Amino acid sequence: MKIINSKKLIVIKVGSSLTTLSSGLPNFKFIKSISEQIFKLYKKGFHIVLVSSGAIAQGMKIWNLSSKPKSVDFLQALSASGQIGLINNYQKEFKRFDLIAAQVLLSHSDFGVKSRSQNAKNSISNLIKLGAIPIINENDSISTEEILNGDNDRLSGRVGTLLSSKKLFILTDQNGLYDKNPDQHKDAVLINKININKFDFKSISFGDSGILGRGGMITKMKAARDYLNKNNEVWILNGNEEGIIDEAIKRKSVGTRIYLA
Ligand code: GLU
Repeated sequence: MKIINSKKLIVIKVGSSLTTLSSGLPNFKFIKSISEQIFKLYKKGFHIVLVSSGAIAQGMKIWNLSSKPKSVDFLQALSASGQIGLINNYQKEFKRFDLIAAQVLLSHSDFGVKSRSQNAKNSISNLIKLGAIPIINENDSISTEEILNGDNDRLSGRVGTLLSSKKLFILTDQNGLYDKNPDQHKDAVLINKININKFDFKSISFGDSGILGRGGMITKMKAARDYLNKNNEVWILNGNEEGIIDEAIKRKSVGTRIYLA
């Protein structure tokens, strides 16, 4: 059994726009790249917890849908069927590096009940001690309220808080948070660091979830606000850049670093 060094515990969240192509097919290039990054970090002694979206997006392909349905029943079915493919893709890639993928499905409500959150904490910690990489997603197939309103950005923050992780990396298809919408303004500037105490939430009027996911820049910033304390930090990074997590760990100037001071 490994002994967990809390300073080395990191949570990585990846969005549906990374795990799934706009065609609904799995983004194998990304799954490959993130698996390799996880392997390299694991070798360096990091304890990694992955929070991955993409079940519903991949379920859409199974049911041949081009847009996300609104009905809860259908969303539950998409999640139940899509999660299998999502986790299998990770498992296949992880095997190339002798990494063990372990699926954990959590509900937001688990965090509100002490006994349940303690169980989740024990279970995830045990997986880490046994050398596995927990891969977490929302338990959407049995949720109603959360399948409409929950998001994995907030879930990743809650997981980070539960495990007292030192860093939370939120990977998306943007380079980080910009001062204005980079899709509409050529002169938009990437914000390299943000003190969450001085951040004006009303300033984010852009960066929605895209067609596949449920989050957006606002949920990322809210996840950061709820997670941050004086000893940890959040990075919003472009998951399409190979090796981006390692660059952030080396404190290179990438993405947006969010801290509390
Ligand atoms: N849990 C959802 C899924 O795997 C994604 C939620 C989100 O986009 O934040 O499809």
